[in-house]
Amino acid sequence: MHQLIQQQRDFFNTNATKDIGFRKEQLQKLFDTIKNNEQLLYDAIYKDFKKSSFETFTTELALVYSDIKEAKRKVGKWAKRKRKRTNLVNLPAKSYVIPEPLGVSLVIGAWNYPYQLSFAPVVAAMVAGCTVVLKPSEISPNTSAVMAQIINNNFNSNYFKVVEGGIPETTALLNEKFDKIFFTGSTTVGRIIYQAAAKNLTPVTLELGGKSPAFITETANLKMTAKRLIWAKFLNAGQTCIAPDYLLVHQSIKKEFLKLLASEIENSHFSTDNGNYVQIINTKNTERLIKMIPKDKIYCGGNYDVEKRYIEPTILTDISFDDTIMEEEIFGPILPVISYENFQDAIGKVKSLPKPLSCYIFTKSNTSKNKILTEISFGGGCVNEAVMHISNGYLGFGGVGNSGMGSYHGEDGFRAFTHYKSILEKSNLFEANLKYYPNSEKKLSLIKRMMGL
Ligand code: NAD
Repeated sequence: MHQLIQQQRDFFNTNATKDIGFRKEQLQKLFDTIKNNEQLLYDAIYKDFKKSSFETFTTELALVYSDIKEAKRKVGKWAKRKRKRTNLVNLPAKSYVIPEPLGVSLVIGAWNYPYQLSFAPVVAAMVAGCTVVLKPSEISPNTSAVMAQIINNNFNSNYFKVVEGGIPETTALLNEKFDKIFFTGSTTVGRIIYQAAAKNLTPVTLELGGKSPAFITETANLKMTAKRLIWAKFLNAGQTCIAPDYLLVHQSIKKEFLKLLASEIENSHFSTDNGNYVQIINTKNTERLIKMIPKDKIYCGGNYDVEKRYIEPTILTDISFDDTIMEEEIFGPILPVISYENFQDAIGKVKSLPKPLSCYIFTKSNTSKNKILTEISFGGGCVNEAVMHISNGYLGFGGVGNSGMGSYHGEDGFRAFTHYKSILEKSNLFEANLKYYPNSEKKLSLIKRMMGL
């Protein structure tokens, strides 16, 4: 590990990665490497999840392709020096900010969307002009192996290298000094990463998880809401960091809404045989999820097959915040429905919990919408939609508090791997004597006047 990082540092110090042409070339190379190996990527993810090519394209590769295209288009603009105003005391001078790549970066990926959660941060590192070590998740072994194969066969390791492994390998990497660490995963491991980074004062982006609520008020378009929520929740069998973890439904519409949710599940024909559904990633997680289901609160679904790592899309009703299922992020195809009477109380309850990665509000009321948007702190979200904010590359994506820090995609990704160096460039035309000794009352009053005080 030490040698690899030293080689990357040596390469970074040649200044090659700072060249805009180089960055565009490498981004194009990444695009071509993924494109030329799409079939390998489809096969690997099928082995890990039974995920269809359709869904692999729409939920994984599409986002990476559009991030690369946008990065290539905008790198010149993002990397340009930015003029800033110069204040009166410093005149005559010009001021500007130079975006400078942080250096050697480490990207640690999660297993649930293994391609986009690995490659999208890599695109951000590349466009910013950093070198990258990528450590994909060992929990999805086939996708990790294929990423290592296609990247390590096509890129010079002193610029971009995939290192496979689990806790021991990640720990070894974390013992090295990086200039940036970008981590996606659980809040628990996020804390370990943050502590390791602190030893070297390495800046971090932490893309973490949590329990993301969806509010459904009495004015919502219920049919449309049910359709959008069922898709968002059961996509990837609920193994989505921004999936609605639980619903908060106004009690007056609960009965009707539950019926609509169940009928949407039926209409969606969720099955791994037809490519509309995926497996749970492993047996351990399948068993963890099954244990979470309170049998007496199943509204629909609830069946499972541990051997096939299958859990039927499941809706739970009459759930309260005291139920065990509300204690941790579900990260699977189980959707608890909590009914509320008083909107403000429901907001208050969510505010008392750790800040979620996402929050969704389905309503026709502007007042309700604005209450959620202004009162609850969360990473990002949607109004009358769920999950889809991630698909808009023009929006930064990230968490806050327990759900993370920092954001990426588009220019936010560039910023995550960039230091903005502020420069004051002085003219030699003349020199005001104000700052020079000896100090005097006259100078002080002049300084104050210049400051408008
Ligand atoms: P995880 O935290 O278990 O693992 C993430 C990465 O950390 C893996 O590469 C793993 O090898 C490494 N890791 C695990 N334990 C470690 C340790 N002790 N020391 C060092 N490295 C270690 O997370 P996961 O199970 O892969 O993903 C699920 C979680 O990630 C959920 O909480 C989910 O919400 C969150 N997530 C967040 C986002 C986001 O964009 N914010 C995206 C996907 C998943």
